[in-house]
Amino acid sequence: MSSESPDLLVTRFAPSPTGYLHLGNARTALLNFLAARKAGGRFILRVEDTDEARSNEDFMTALFEDLHWLGVHWDEGPDIGGPHTIYRQQHRRTIYEEWLSRLDSAGLTYPCFCTPAELNISRKRQLAAGQPPRYAGTCRNLTSEERAERLVRGLPAALRFRVPQGQVVSFVDLVHGEQRFNTDDIGDFIIRRTDGSTAFFFSNAVDDALMGVTLVLRGDDHMTNTPRQILILQALALRVPQYAHVALLLGMDGAPLSKRHGDTSLRELRDRGYLPGALRNHLVRLGHSCVTDGWLDDAALIADFDLKRLGRAAAKFDDAQLRHWQKETVAHLSTEEFVSWIAAVLPPGLDAQKQAQFVTAIRGNVELPSDAKQWATVVFGKLEEFEPAALAAIREAGEGFFTEALKVIGQPGAEFKPAVKALGQATGNKGPALFMPLRAALTGFTHGPELAPMLALLPVAEIQARLEHARRLAV
Ligand code: GLU
Repeated sequence: MSSESPDLLVTRFAPSPTGYLHLGNARTALLNFLAARKAGGRFILRVEDTDEARSNEDFMTALFEDLHWLGVHWDEGPDIGGPHTIYRQQHRRTIYEEWLSRLDSAGLTYPCFCTPAELNISRKRQLAAGQPPRYAGTCRNLTSEERAERLVRGLPAALRFRVPQGQVVSFVDLVHGEQRFNTDDIGDFIIRRTDGSTAFFFSNAVDDALMGVTLVLRGDDHMTNTPRQILILQALALRVPQYAHVALLLGMDGAPLSKRHGDTSLRELRDRGYLPGALRNHLVRLGHSCVTDGWLDDAALIADFDLKRLGRAAAKFDDAQLRHWQKETVAHLSTEEFVSWIAAVLPPGLDAQKQAQFVTAIRGNVELPSDAKQWATVVFGKLEEFEPAALAAIREAGEGFFTEALKVIGQPGAEFKPAVKALGQATGNKGPALFMPLRAALTGFTHGPELAPMLALLPVAEIQARLEHARRLAV
């Protein structure tokens, strides 16, 4: 057991590596990390891979990468070790066997020979009778001869925990307040499966206690598991942690966040170019209310976090909110960070000064690297396509407008502002009638970043070629 001070807050994230990190789990990981950092405590990563058929090494590696990318870093874990040595449940079997045998010696377990088909029939019968389904206790009262006879026949046996009857299990949930569960409503549950692996209820609770976890902060889909886990811990005289069950992540329609809402894994959003700061700022506000409305950097996020402000409000993952935080995060990138974020869209060999100039020119109009790509094509490539509105603006301005433009804009050494002013005087065009056709001719769009800084990156010959092309389009 942990020798650390009993006051130290120890949290953990305990994912099962059966897929890419879901946004709901990413939120849970972030909240646990922030809680530990805020309190100066410890944050543990424990991989719950007892279900060997569904767990996979690649998902585990991806999980480590995605968490670090999000800015969630652990003090103990499978990759870095720690005082509890083993942080993958697959490798903790001997430990579980020892604790299982303690339950066994106390007479609190029994082998169960019920087959999945038998359990299914019993469950259906209970449901049909309007009762909540729970283990009917078929194998609870087998005599030792009956047990021995079944074992000799080689029948597969799971191990069940003998739930005490007529008791109330209560605990104070940090989010939901006092919770009370009657043990008569809890059937004896499996703690070791027929294949010898320990079940979640058991290994998860025992590990929390052995690793000195003081706060279990997880999704409220686990709320009804908690009394079972408390019963096991009490039976083993292990320390019961505090619990905080946060609302499950929902889509905007109120249904649990799933594929039909779009991207649900952190990796998909990362691949689309979302920044970790955007996800941190959105996720922290799901189930936790921040004091600060504005964008929070890493340190401010920790400072703002407070377990007392975990709340019951529905946690809806909102694309519009995510995009808002993405814009904020982009605005907070330094030029160097911005350049490395969009490196893939920059022409190879572009010097650092031009890279910086480009970033300054476009940053206000970029939400995702795909936006930067569009402006990189405008600035460093050839204009091949024109938006319909851009074509219309060019035609509306007419050939004469561009004949005049060619005389003043894109002349060697010409400054953009005075040149546009001169063009206005020569053509009599003002405001949008002056700027829109120019923007359309030079970028192919009727919207976008401020023109002058972009044009400063375009070779004079290219500006001329675009104006000439627009002149011909306007004929
Ligand atoms: N492995 C469990 C899960 O992924 C952990 C739940 C918990 O945090 O206790 O749901």
